Amino acid sequence: DRRDPNQTEFQEAVFTVLDSLAPILEAHPEYVKSNLLAQLVEPERAIQFRVPWQSDDGQFNVNRGFRVQFNSAIGPYKGGLRLHPSVNLSVVKFLGFEQILKNSLTGLPIGGAKGGSDFDPKGKSDSEIMRFCQSFMTELQRHIGPDLDVPAGDIGVGGREIGYLFGTYKRLNGYQNGVLTGKGLTFGGSLARTEATGFGLLYYTNAMLKAQGDTLTGKKIKISGAGNVATYAIQKATELGAKVITVSDSNGYIYDPKGIDYKVVQQIKEVERGRIREYADRVASAEYHGGSVWDFDVDYDIALPCATQNEINKDQAKLIVKDGVKYVCEGANMPSYPDAIAIYRDGDILYGPAKAANAGGVAVSALEMSQNSERLAWSFETVDNRLQDIMEDIFAKSEAADKKYHLDKDYQAGANIAGFEKVAEAMMAQGLV
Ligand code: NDP
Repeated sequence: DRRDPNQTEFQEAVFTVLDSLAPILEAHPEYVKSNLLAQLVEPERAIQFRVPWQSDDGQFNVNRGFRVQFNSAIGPYKGGLRLHPSVNLSVVKFLGFEQILKNSLTGLPIGGAKGGSDFDPKGKSDSEIMRFCQSFMTELQRHIGPDLDVPAGDIGVGGREIGYLFGTYKRLNGYQNGVLTGKGLTFGGSLARTEATGFGLLYYTNAMLKAQGDTLTGKKIKISGAGNVATYAIQKATELGAKVITVSDSNGYIYDPKGIDYKVVQQIKEVERGRIREYADRVASAEYHGGSVWDFDVDYDIALPCATQNEINKDQAKLIVKDGVKYVCEGANMPSYPDAIAIYRDGDILYGPAKAANAGGVAVSALEMSQNSERLAWSFETVDNRLQDIMEDIFAKSEAADKKYHLDKDYQAGANIAGFEKVAEAMMAQGLV
């Protein structure tokens, strides 16, 4: 608090995790004695840099770039890059901190990091995006490497941006395809990486329902966002027999009582790079409304926030309870305010926190690293099956920790404890480093 007075997102993430670690700290007094938590909340390294770039009209612009290498106890730093005007050190630190435990939960050997810039990609031309990415990587390249730190995509960074970033890295350092994940399929990318976070979210949700003797068949689902995560969450939910009734962006949302057609969303967002309101022009049963989808009052069963942090406040959480929702699983990172999470719990909603429910993206990124190391490419089915196993295992680990510490279906605390345990053991074994 005293050291980072303005880092509200970072503090929110840290306090939420620390709150839930009490039972494991009681069981392991050696963690407390060695002041492990003080090490855990301090990034190993936080890099901030200038990113100058030129727009098409000739104007010079300067943005701020970040890479926070938070924890390498269990493997090389790994985590996405975000391009959004709201990016600052607090946001990057919150994401990097969450990434430590998320990456641990996947069971794969990857440490935690995050990066990005306050550059706004909206409305920029292809060549502006390319020039920005080239400038960003010109500095970032000296801090990353296939065994050191492996960035990936996040908000505003998809296949196009990773391609430009990779091209610049290669020009400066030679071909090392393990330095970034989320690459195109023609230069070392993994099949199913694009789908991984959205598909993984549904595999996790499915596992949670199964543990309650419930199923996704016929369930009505509200999804927010219309980006990479939301799009493939809609596809997998539909394939698993549920009906997704909403999709949104930062301007408004679509309500389609007949079920959102993910192919139309993919066409508008991925092919045409358009806005989600255009969905209503193409699908007769759909309505477009301005404002937040979480203020929209309609009965449904499952909420899957897939847009951004802090998109659901206390009052919106009350509406979620009132609308009869039984499960909230997070595709986005930290979409629910802490007091919203408390309301889910009071309302008997089972809650799947981001670091468990959305770990599918980074899990498949780690599988992309494996494929790059062995210079092979696995089939879609192989990667998708591994993803499904990993997501089921993440739920199983969270549930086991929940049972061990008698937390009464608190899968958030279960995930925090299960993710923390491995990192803590590794940090203890390595001593003060
Ligand atoms: P995209 O950039 O592809 O899409 C983001 C979507 O969320 C867009 O529809 C965007 O709308 C909307 N959005 C962004 N900011 C806001 C806001 N302030 N209010 C309302 N809507 C907003 O990003 P992703 O789909 O990749 O990421 C979404 C979330 O999932 C993020 O929290 C990210 O950290 C998380 N995540 C992503 C992973 C991945 O593999 N991509 C992995 C794990 C987590 P608009 O176009 O109007 O901005």
